[in-house]
Amino acid sequence: MATSSAALAVFERAFGRTPDVLERAPGRVNLIGEHTDYSGGFVLPMAIPQRTEIALARATGGDGVCRVVSANHGGRAPAMFEIGREERTGTWIDYVQGVVKALRETGVLVPAFDAAVASDVPIGAGLSSSAALEVALLRGLRALVGFPLDDVTIAQLGRKAENELVGAPVGIMDQMASSLADATTALFLDTRTLAYERVPLPDDTEILVIDSGVAHDHAAGDYRTRRSEVERAAAALGVKELRDIDDPAVAGALKEPIGRRARHVVSENARVLAAVRAMREGDLPALGKLMDASHASLRDDFQVTVPDVDRLVALAQGDPEVIGARMTGGGFGGAIVALTRRQKAAAAGARIVASYGPRGRVLVPARDGWTSEEGR
Ligand code: ADP
Ligand code: MG
Repeated sequence: MATSSAALAVFERAFGRTPDVLERAPGRVNLIGEHTDYSGGFVLPMAIPQRTEIALARATGGDGVCRVVSANHGGRAPAMFEIGREERTGTWIDYVQGVVKALRETGVLVPAFDAAVASDVPIGAGLSSSAALEVALLRGLRALVGFPLDDVTIAQLGRKAENELVGAPVGIMDQMASSLADATTALFLDTRTLAYERVPLPDDTEILVIDSGVAHDHAAGDYRTRRSEVERAAAALGVKELRDIDDPAVAGALKEPIGRRARHVVSENARVLAAVRAMREGDLPALGKLMDASHASLRDDFQVTVPDVDRLVALAQGDPEVIGARMTGGGFGGAIVALTRRQKAAAAGARIVASYGPRGRVLVPARDGWTSEEGR
């Protein structure tokens, strides 16, 4: 876990003074409901213990320039941009610029600021370090400037930043999870209406997250392809979004490959609803089967898994303490999530990684002594 002073120390080292504000936001893991959040569907994410911290102060230069350092990107030389002149650079500072621009467009006068970021959310592992950064920054600016901003609006502004200035066509799940969820309660979210309910993890269970070590470098292009396939499927079915279709067989009747893509989305929405019921009833076998079925659908119909992730999921599913397991996040590498019996996740994770190989890494439960330097 990051110490609460990680961002503070980076700020003091970079700027030689103390910050005015310290804020944080967690990464997230999605239990079920994958690739449904850009067609108005259902998702069930929860926060993870790892989080992104930000230390902020108003800039002193008077030139309208923001200076931002990240412990996860060098940690010393600040990236800079001018308020009102935010432009895409293709680097991490775009997430910061995107948030500033989105906030300014709501009419908030954002002052120039100095900021330091430090995170132990693994970056690019499908646990949403990007939303953690956006939400932490929005919370930090809210505290620094003192304007009202509710948690749902924070999520919407984070997504806008990522969609527009960064240019990643992501849905709303990550930002909603980072802004509203905690690490023991799942957020059952209707991404069409943004209505949400909190659903506690069943008694006697625990979450296990393992990184496959396969980087999803090329994921942006594949993600876009899947997104456009889902849009084509909705158009072919004559609906606004696949959320409007209930019968997987109707979706699956479309020509390939969009038929199987649509079948995944439609069946996955039904699985989220069934998983929420199973969680409320404490029906662990049913919940486990739904997670397993979600993985099979992502592998066979949506085709966003890679062989190592399939192997890791199969190893997890074969562990005696695992109730269900699946890939989590956008796919093409990244992490898997499993539900285990309570207090069994760490031991199960160690067994699974021992069989999988050295690239595997247990991310949740978080190790003590995990630092932002390691969280790169
Ligand atoms: P994920 O959200 O699954 O971790 P993304 O590709 O969506 O992966 O976002 C990762 C990107 O977000 C990084 O490449 C970087 O640009 C930015 N980012 C996330 N966390 C930080 C951080 N702590 N410091 C600087 N940039 C960060
Ligand atoms: Mg992300």
